[in-house]
Amino acid sequence: MNVMHLASPKAAATETAARPLLIDGKFVPALSGRTFASHNPATGRLVAHVCEGDAEDIDLAVAAARKAFEGPWSRFTPFERQACILRFSELVDQNFEELAMTDVLDMGVPITVSRSRRQRVLGLLRFYAGACTAIRGATTPDSLPGEMFTYTLKEPVGVVGAITPWNGPVVHTMWKIGPVLATGCTMVLKPAEDAPLTAIRLGELLLEAGVPPGVVNVVPGFGHTAGAALAAHGDVDKISFTGSESVGRKIIDASQGNMKRLTLELGGKSPDVVFADCDFKAAVQGAAMGVFANSGQSCTAGTRLLVERSIFGEFVDAVSDFAKTLKVGDGLDPDTQIGPLINRKQLDRVTGYIDLGEREGARTVSGGRRLTEGAYGDGFFVEPTVLAGVTNDMKVARDEIFGPVVCAIPFDTFEEATTIANATSFGLGSGVWTQSLATAHRMAKAIRAGTVWVNTYGGLDPAVPFGGYKTSGIGRECGLEQMEEYLETKAVIMKFA
Ligand code: ADP
Repeated sequence: MNVMHLASPKAAATETAARPLLIDGKFVPALSGRTFASHNPATGRLVAHVCEGDAEDIDLAVAAARKAFEGPWSRFTPFERQACILRFSELVDQNFEELAMTDVLDMGVPITVSRSRRQRVLGLLRFYAGACTAIRGATTPDSLPGEMFTYTLKEPVGVVGAITPWNGPVVHTMWKIGPVLATGCTMVLKPAEDAPLTAIRLGELLLEAGVPPGVVNVVPGFGHTAGAALAAHGDVDKISFTGSESVGRKIIDASQGNMKRLTLELGGKSPDVVFADCDFKAAVQGAAMGVFANSGQSCTAGTRLLVERSIFGEFVDAVSDFAKTLKVGDGLDPDTQIGPLINRKQLDRVTGYIDLGEREGARTVSGGRRLTEGAYGDGFFVEPTVLAGVTNDMKVARDEIFGPVVCAIPFDTFEEATTIANATSFGLGSGVWTQSLATAHRMAKAIRAGTVWVNTYGGLDPAVPFGGYKTSGIGRECGLEQMEEYLETKAVIMKFA
C-alpha cells in the first residue's frame, strides 16, 4: 500500500501517480482506469491526480461494506469499536499538520484556519468514541395482557453511503465516519471531486488504526456518476449527504427504490439579527466573520444581516470597514484570512450574484470585485462584499450564493425582524446580537432554524445536534441525536411461558 502524502506543497506539485480508491482494505485504481485532476484554487496548479470511481467501483465498494457489516465487524463490542476510534484519533492528531495542509492545497482554506480545526476534529472523534458505549434500548412497563416483557434493541442501520462536499473536508469526513464507527455500521464514502484528498488519507489512517477492511471504503469520483450510483444503490441502507439543496432533492428521489434512511444537511440563507442594544464591536466582528469565514462557502453563513434601523448605517459601515481589513490570499500564507473560492463555476456564480444584486437595486458598500492583480489572477478570489439597500424579496436575499457576500436589511421592530428572519425556504443557522436576555430568549424561540447563535456565530460542538429546518435538511449531525440516525430500533415483545 503506497498512498503518497502531501507532506509539503513541493512534494504535492511533483507527484504524478493517481491517488487510489480504497475498497475492502486495498488501495486500487478505478476499474475504468480513468483519473481526474485536483487543482489548488489559489494558484490553479495541479495538486494531484485521483482515480475516478464510477458505478462499477461503487458496486464493489458496497459489496465490501456489506461483507464487513455481516462479518467480523458485527462482532466488535462497543468497547472494541471505541478503541478503534481512539486509535484513529491518535493517528489523526499525529498527522494533523499534513491533513491541514492537504485541505489548504485541495480547497484553499487558510492554513491558520485549517490548523485551528485540530481540537474540533479530535473533540468530534472523542465524542463518537464515548457515544459507542452510550447506545441503549429501553424497557417498557407491562401493558399487554399476560406475563409479558417488552424491550427495545438499538441496531446499526447497515451499509451507509456518505457523500461529502468540498467546503470543509476534514470536518465533514469525520461527521460521516464517526457515527458509522460508533454504531457499528459500515460505509462507502464518496468525497467531493473538488477536494477528495483528505478522505483518501483518512481511509489509510483508519486501516492503520485497526478498523477492519471494508468497514470504510472510499470512492472518489463525480456526483452524477459515482455519487448518483451510490444514492440509488439497492444494497445501501442509508445515505448521509451534505451538499446543495438541488442535489439533496436528487438524493431523495434516488432513495425511493429501497426506501433508504436519509440524513441531509443542505443549504442555508441564515439571518443574523443585530439589535441596537448589542455590544457593537463584538457584533461587527462576529457578524462579518459569520459570513466571510471560509470565503462564505459555509452552509451556515449569516448572509442576511438584519440590523435595527437606528444603528443600520453605522453598523453596515463598520462591517464594511472590517471587511476591508481582511487579508485575502493564498491559504499557504499564514497572514491570509480569506482564501479563494473553490473553482471557476463558483467564482462565476458569486460575481454573477453581485451583479444581479446591483441590477435588483442593491448598493455595493464595499468589495464587489474579483481580484485579478498579480498572483490573484491565477486563482478564484473575490473581495468580501457588503450589499445594502437589499430587500428580503430580492434574489440575492433568497438564494444561497455560497461566497463572501452579505446582504444588509434594516428592521424596526422585534416582530418585523422575526418575520424577515423566517421569510426564507431555509432554516439552518441564525444569529442574534443583543444584551437583553429577554430579547435573546424570545428570538431564539421565534426563529425557525436548527441553530441559533446568541452573541457569537458559527461555533459547533460535537455534543450539540446540528441540522436544518425546512429545506435545509433532514436529521441531525453531532450529538446523541446523530447516533439515532444510524440506528434502527427493534421492539422485542416477549410472553413468559
Ligand atoms: P456543492 O454545490 O457544494 O459542490 P453539491 O451538492 O453539488 O454541492 O455536491 C456535494 C456532493 O454531492 C459532492 O460530493 C458531489 O459529487 C455530490 N453530487 C453531485 N451530484 C450528485 C448526484 N446527482 N447524486 C449524488 N451525489 C451527487
